[in-house]
Amino acid sequence: MNESVQKPRGRLFFANPGPSNIPDSVLHAVSHVSVDWYPAEFMAVYHECMAGLKRVIKTQNDLVFHTGSGHAAWEAALVNLFSPGDLLLYPQTGNFSDRWGQMARDLGLRTQVLECDWRRGVEMTAVRAALVADKAREIKAVCVTHNETSTGMVLNPADFRAALDATGHPALLLVDTISSLGSIDFRCDEWRVDCAVGGSQKGLMLPTGLSFNTISEKAWAASKQSTMRKSYFSWANMMKLPHKSFMGTPPTSLFYGMKESLRLLLEDEGLDNVFARHTRLAEAVRRAVNHWSGNGGPQLYCTNPARYSDSVTTILMPEGFDANAVRNTALDRFNVSLGGGLARLAGKAFRIGHLGDLNEPMILGTLGVVELALKINHVPHTPGGVDAAIDYLAND
Ligand SMILES: *Cc1c(COP(=O)(O)O)cnc(C)c1O
Repeated sequence: MNESVQKPRGRLFFANPGPSNIPDSVLHAVSHVSVDWYPAEFMAVYHECMAGLKRVIKTQNDLVFHTGSGHAAWEAALVNLFSPGDLLLYPQTGNFSDRWGQMARDLGLRTQVLECDWRRGVEMTAVRAALVADKAREIKAVCVTHNETSTGMVLNPADFRAALDATGHPALLLVDTISSLGSIDFRCDEWRVDCAVGGSQKGLMLPTGLSFNTISEKAWAASKQSTMRKSYFSWANMMKLPHKSFMGTPPTSLFYGMKESLRLLLEDEGLDNVFARHTRLAEAVRRAVNHWSGNGGPQLYCTNPARYSDSVTTILMPEGFDANAVRNTALDRFNVSLGGGLARLAGKAFRIGHLGDLNEPMILGTLGVVELALKINHVPHTPGGVDAAIDYLAND
């Protein structure tokens, strides 16, 4: 055994964009003893969670849960709303939007892909043009990834609602809110989102394993026409069950955790304060990266300030420098976990997740270690990014 190889000490700083940090009070709540899931005691917790989650999503539509990660709720949306061969339109703005599209093709749906510059996001004129060109009304849905976790970019669902309204196109509006919900404002009913797809382990600060769909009246009507095969994910089957959700045993411990995380979001801090905190910490990260970018250093991948994400920042390395070397230094030596680059950004970018249970010392600690790892790996940059973040936080 090599005595000189030491594992890092101290607390793990977890700066991935999902899963995210789980507050101690939520961890305690999750470690609840097993309970039966029909009696009134659990039903009360379940209904409280349902009502609270709807407040976070800002919806009065129906909501169904799936025991599974976000992918499960993606699949549930597709198999409940469509029939084989149906056409879906989606802007391919990064890895997650593309994987949802790939899943649709795997399931026998057709996709019309709006390619765009991943650093700027789709032009809304291109979205409108595609809807106008669809005279036969073949497009059954527009699938939007609200917060593209691979690139650190937000698309405004309101813009897509406006495009559908302006063109009088009847397509459903589906929105993936997995890495935005609870971190960036999401307004399901105001934007008339027909089906929102969410998950537990990002802004909701819970363990992985629970995901959900909201279902508008228009989505319910579409689901009645759907001929895709389904059983476990069938919303209609779920409606016959006592919880009007779930096939099989609900993950009761996650609901005890959710009751606490919703209390933190809705009562303890308040949603608007939660969003403001995310904006502030995200801006501190961006100030640091913009500072480092001098001297040919790493830079913000997103070059469209109107679409900066407040829950994740993707940082592009200078040409010829390996992002994973920086990540490995951060993790192996300093116990700071950073997100990796995905798809075409593998090895070329890394990501700082700044969502969920997070404050200034956590973000400054993470930024300090990123700068340390840049230095150790001889990556060109302008030193002092942490000071730039401090300056911003002190004067904000
Ligand atoms: C994390 C994520 C997913 C996938 O969710 P899983 O829970 O990992 O299955 C989908 N879309 C977005 C935008 C994500 O950030």
